[in-house]
Amino acid sequence: MDARRKMRVLKGIPASDGIAIGQGYFLNRALPRAVQSTVSHEKVEEEVAAFHRALARSKEQVRAIRDTLEDHSAEHYQILSVHLALLEDSMLLEQTTRTIRENQFTADWAFNKVLQNLLDTFHRIEDPYLRERGADLRQIGHRVLENLAGRQPDSISAIKDPVVVIAHDLSPADTTQILNSSILGFATDVGSRTSHTAITARSLGVPAVVGLERITEEYSAEGPVILDGEAGLVILDPTEETVREYAEKRKAFSQRTRDLSRFARLPTVTRDGKTLSLMANIEFPEESAIAIRSGADGVGLYRTEFLFLNRKDLPGEEEHYETYRKVVEKFRRNPVTIRTFDLGGDKFASQLDLADEMNPAMGLRAIRFCLREKDIFKNQIRAILRASVHGRVRMMFPMISGVAELHEAMAVVDEARAELKRRRVPFDKGMSVGAMIEIPSAAIVADLLAKEVSFFSIGTNDLIQYALAIDRVNEHVSYLYEPLHPAILRLIRRIVEAGHEAGIPVSMCGEMAGEPLYSYVLLGLGLDELSMNSTAIPRVKRILRKSVAFEAKEFVGELLLHSTAGEIDRILRKKMEDLFPAERF
Ligand code: PEP
Ligand code: MG
Repeated sequence: MDARRKMRVLKGIPASDGIAIGQGYFLNRALPRAVQSTVSHEKVEEEVAAFHRALARSKEQVRAIRDTLEDHSAEHYQILSVHLALLEDSMLLEQTTRTIRENQFTADWAFNKVLQNLLDTFHRIEDPYLRERGADLRQIGHRVLENLAGRQPDSISAIKDPVVVIAHDLSPADTTQILNSSILGFATDVGSRTSHTAITARSLGVPAVVGLERITEEYSAEGPVILDGEAGLVILDPTEETVREYAEKRKAFSQRTRDLSRFARLPTVTRDGKTLSLMANIEFPEESAIAIRSGADGVGLYRTEFLFLNRKDLPGEEEHYETYRKVVEKFRRNPVTIRTFDLGGDKFASQLDLADEMNPAMGLRAIRFCLREKDIFKNQIRAILRASVHGRVRMMFPMISGVAELHEAMAVVDEARAELKRRRVPFDKGMSVGAMIEIPSAAIVADLLAKEVSFFSIGTNDLIQYALAIDRVNEHVSYLYEPLHPAILRLIRRIVEAGHEAGIPVSMCGEMAGEPLYSYVLLGLGLDELSMNSTAIPRVKRILRKSVAFEAKEFVGELLLHSTAGEIDRILRKKMEDLFPAERF
């Protein structure tokens, strides 16, 4: 460690629990800068040879990453094959070699020139698919230039060492690669607790801190880093004493996680006999095993839009079906709640022409997009219906704003059913269809919606965003993101009451459901089911098993008499510490 570098502590937003200690790794998206420079005549062939070596090394790396993937039909495998084909393209090789020889340029400058020319050409192409190839070219260009400079290329799947990734932001495409990677944790400048980067980190159990604002500026390459995902701290160039202190904390965290795993198999029954279902939120089928190990009673939210990421084409009915079937079969008789696509907002798909909107969170996203693109929507619904014969499937719509929109979505389900019938394809005719309640208008007309569906699922991430007018991915207003705001508690109470009056169960699948601090309040509000990232299940279960439902209900009645989130937060923390002294809130 460089003794001259002083330890610095940065405070961000805690996104995913756990302690990571290791070397930092700066994940840079910019192309490395090549400066125009020439070499003497005698050195020209050395530059040509250096370029050939960098190209060969790049091919080797891409092939090695690709060959670790078992499923050759998977998109990631296909993308890496495209990269390999681009690296093998003789035009790239010949043009660069010629540019080096004719101008006596250094290899990086010559390659940079050829690359920029090609990128300009791709940039001018109208066809979105071909324009996407430009992005592939940029990525492999980045890799070759990094190899020429003798550095590690820049992608999560290429990282082989256990490191803490430091980045301005991670795209959903980056986070999908975390699953099989060796990274210990990550820290980003932007993001909030409910941004998808944070949600994915929690699902995968990778410690993360987001919204650090200037971590990429503060981080000096290659230094050691400590990341505390629970406190939301990142410590750069820590002293040896601090490293020792955090190594102890990491040990204690692992012990706590092991202790909690004992709760996984136990049912979620309160001391006075009320049973709740604790479900998992998943983004990828691969998460099913973690969810089952954590004691999930099923899947309460399967975010299917992740099927659109990291790929160049649209998934067809067959692919949807096979993917859902994998999850449904894993859970056997336990329910799997498949949410129809929630694209748009902070979730995007490069192959769909989602308009550049001034205000994407309020734009053409989720069910609105699906009702505009009915073929894409119906494709998915048919696949969900087909998967329903393999277990217990429930389907739900995101971002329902009122009854008319729900009717329109139901009409598409009816059409899909009729089509399957004509094709004589079996499906579960009694499959439950529910609505997410995550727009204030839906909460207000929950009594009307309750007559039309088999269940509700409250999406607090969006409900809070829209009710309190706070952009959920904006770190500058995250302090206003208050699940305990009296308005939010009243909305939740209203939704639960409306659901129960109509005789349907009410679930919650927003991040609030997985925060142990809120478990007692949610029990008191009468929720039937809580769906969360798998790693949160054992802790929430431990709290609920020690709770008394009717006392929680009384306590919530008192909480609702207070008028600010601050007051409610203080009273709740005190209560939780008294009731559950062994827990940490
Ligand atoms: C929510 O809004 O609370 C929710 C669960 O959906 P998402 O986070 O995917 O928007
Ligand atoms: Mg939502």
